Amino acid sequence: MNLQELSEHVAREFEKAFGRPPRWIVAAPGRVNVIGEHIDYNDGFVLPMAIEYYAVMAADRPPGGGAMLHIRSTAQKEAASIDTSKPVTTSPLKWSNYPRGVVAGFAARGLNPGGLDVLLHSTVPLGGGLSSSAALEVSTATLVEAVAGTKIDPVEKALLCQKAEHEFAGVPCGIMDQFVSVMGRQSHLLLLDCRSRKTELVPMSDPSVELLITNTNVRHELGISQYARRRAQCEAAASILGLPSLRDASADALEKHKSQMDGEVFRRARHVIGEIERTVQAAESIRASNWPETGALMYASHRSLRDDYEVSCAEMDALVEIAESIGLDGGVYGCRMTGGGFGGCTVALVKSDSVSAITKKLAAGYKAKTGLEATIFGSRPAGGARVIKG
Ligand code: ADP
Ligand code: MG
Repeated sequence: MNLQELSEHVAREFEKAFGRPPRWIVAAPGRVNVIGEHIDYNDGFVLPMAIEYYAVMAADRPPGGGAMLHIRSTAQKEAASIDTSKPVTTSPLKWSNYPRGVVAGFAARGLNPGGLDVLLHSTVPLGGGLSSSAALEVSTATLVEAVAGTKIDPVEKALLCQKAEHEFAGVPCGIMDQFVSVMGRQSHLLLLDCRSRKTELVPMSDPSVELLITNTNVRHELGISQYARRRAQCEAAASILGLPSLRDASADALEKHKSQMDGEVFRRARHVIGEIERTVQAAESIRASNWPETGALMYASHRSLRDDYEVSCAEMDALVEIAESIGLDGGVYGCRMTGGGFGGCTVALVKSDSVSAITKKLAAGYKAKTGLEATIFGSRPAGGARVIKG
C-alpha cells in the first residue's frame, strides 16, 4: 500500500468511526539506520533513512466543540484523551504519553491545537526497532502544525518530539529517529552529525537497489543495562584519550593508549572510531552508487558490533550469515544488525529485482536456523512527515 492508498484507508476508517470525513490527514514515517550504530551518544555520524511505513492521523474538530483532544489508535484498546484547556501531564495510559508530550511541547511554544477527534493508524511495527515511537510523535507534531496553520523550524520540531520521548515516555533516546522522520526525503538518506545536529541529504536514486529490513522478532532483555554499560565504557575510553568524546579520537591515538585501557573498553572504542569512519565512507559510496563498497561497509559494521561492541545476538547473526551466503550472485550487497541490538532488525542492501527470491531465502534460512518466523519489509528511502489533507 503506498502512502496515498494508506491515507485513503485511514480516511475511510475515520469516517466509519466518526460518521464524517476528516478535515486533516498527516503522516510521519518510521526509519531504519543504514549504518552508524551506537554512534549518536558518541557525537559522531549516523546515516538513517525514512521508510515507506507511516503513522497516519486523520482528524476533525469535535462536532460539539470543546477542548478535548481524543486519539483512537487502531493498535490500542484505550483511546488517549488530552484536555487542551489545562497543562498537559503524563498519564498511566502509556502510549498516550508520546502524543501528550508533543502537545505539551507545542503548548510551551504558545501553540494549542484545541479539541480534536483523531484516528491514528500506523504501519510501522510497534516496538520493532523501526521507531514507531518517533513516527507517532512526529505525526502528532505535524497534525498540531496543520491545525494551527503554521510550521515550526524542522530542527526544533524534531527536538520537541525527542523531548516528549524523554520527559513523557521516559525513554532517553538520541536525536536520530525524530530528525529523519521530520527531515527524510524521498530517494535520499540523511547523514546526521550528532554533535552539530547538521544534516546532509545523500542521494540514493538508483532504482536497481533497495533496503530489505528483517525483524528477528526477538528482543533479549539485557539491552537496557548493556546500553548504560556501553555508554560508560565509551566515556571511560574518551577520558583516557583526554578527549571530550570518541568523535575526536583516531585509530592511531587509540592504539597508542592501548596499554592504559581495559581490553573491553579498548574494543568498544575501536568499534566507535571505526564505525564513524565507515559511516562517512558509506555516504560517499552511496553518492557514487558504489553498491559493492557500501555493502562491504555494512558487513564490516556488523562484525564490529558483534565482536568489538558485543551488542548482536544469535538471531541477528543468523540473518547476516544467511544474507552473506546468498551473496552478490543472489543479489545481496551487504547486511548488518540495525538499532540498539540484542534483537530487533537487520538491514540488507539488495538488488530490487532479487527482492522476492531473497525474501524467501531469508525467511526459510531463519526458520531452519532458529525455529522462528522473520518479518521482512522492503523499502526505498522515503519522504519525511507531511500534511496530506488540510
Ligand atoms: P519502536 O519505536 O522501536 O517501535 P518503542 O518501544 O520506542 O519501539 O515505541 C513503541 C511504543 O510507542 C508502543 O509501545 C506504544 O506505546 C507507542 N506507539 C507507537 N505506535 C503507536 C500506535 N500506532 N498507536 C499507539 N501507540 C503507539
Ligand atoms: Mg522508539
